[in-house]
Amino acid sequence: MVTSTVAFIGLGHMGGPMAANLVRAGHRVLGHDLVPAAVDAAVKAGVEVVPHATEAVTGADVVLTMLPAGRHVLDVYEEVLAVARVGTLFLDCSTIDVADARAAHARAADAGMRSLDAPVSGGVVGAEAATLTFMAGGEEEDFSSARPLLDAMGKKAVLCGGPGSGQAAKICNNMILGVSMIAVSEAFVLGESLGLSHQALYDVASTASGQCWALSVNCPVPGPVPTSPANHDYRPGFAAALMAKDLGLAANAVRSGSVNAELGLRAAELYAAYAQQAGTAEDFSGIVRAIRNHDGAEGGSS
Ligand code: NAD
Repeated sequence: MVTSTVAFIGLGHMGGPMAANLVRAGHRVLGHDLVPAAVDAAVKAGVEVVPHATEAVTGADVVLTMLPAGRHVLDVYEEVLAVARVGTLFLDCSTIDVADARAAHARAADAGMRSLDAPVSGGVVGAEAATLTFMAGGEEEDFSSARPLLDAMGKKAVLCGGPGSGQAAKICNNMILGVSMIAVSEAFVLGESLGLSHQALYDVASTASGQCWALSVNCPVPGPVPTSPANHDYRPGFAAALMAKDLGLAANAVRSGSVNAELGLRAAELYAAYAQQAGTAEDFSGIVRAIRNHDGAEGGSS
């Protein structure tokens, strides 16, 4: 097996277990994070933690970033591009604005580096179990060279196109998910007002034209799908705050491209309002309660 030296910047909820899986697969991982708890957990997992990002990057084959937002990624690139070996692969797995991802690619290329954007789906559970799905944007040969690392951290990786295409695929998918969860939730609340049981609506819609993942896997009301978060007091799952973040990124792209996506923009507003109360503690399917109660979802059911 070909092993690499990986500089891993951002060892949080996702990055920590991803870095641990790279260590498990035999790669040398030099890690950096600003938070002591993240550093301690990474050290226990066999990551060689260093106090400055530049120390991790000098001599690395791959620089992997797993950071909160585009500004963090661009700041880290600014700091480390000058010390990386020419030709190093910069692999950003954070979920960030498409525009920021393209800027990161451009800065890497200007410094003589190779780069991929490769955001993930699968959450912390997928990061721990190495079952993430990667959506990548960049050159075919760079995707091929990243493959052993992606395979060590996930179960599926798709090259979606040129720079920024991974982020584009992620926000388009999550825009479908956010809009469809609101639609499914509104339908259940409408059904309640018409005296229709949750089970009856589920039995019809899950085998009819209303079928979708938000209904048949992550059903927002308790009962019909025993494994959905609704049966566990809406513990995430996929947290409301993360859905709000992703819909915000989608809304930025909708606006900057002058795209006609009224439902996507409205879903971003509703999730932003709902996430203020639900934060990271509730699954995004909990928006059904805000819709039912006429609160938190900014007039979503009025
Ligand atoms: P997190 O906040 O737990 O981790 C981010 C880490 O980056 C933190 O530990 C923070 O200290 C560190 N950091 C910030 N700036 C830094 C810097 N300059 N240098 C070094 N470290 C720095 O977030 P997370 O849940 O791990 O998410 C990371 C990314 O993955 C985000 O873009 C998120 O949208 C995306 N994502 C998260 C999930 C999820 O379920 N948590 C799912 C899919 C995608």
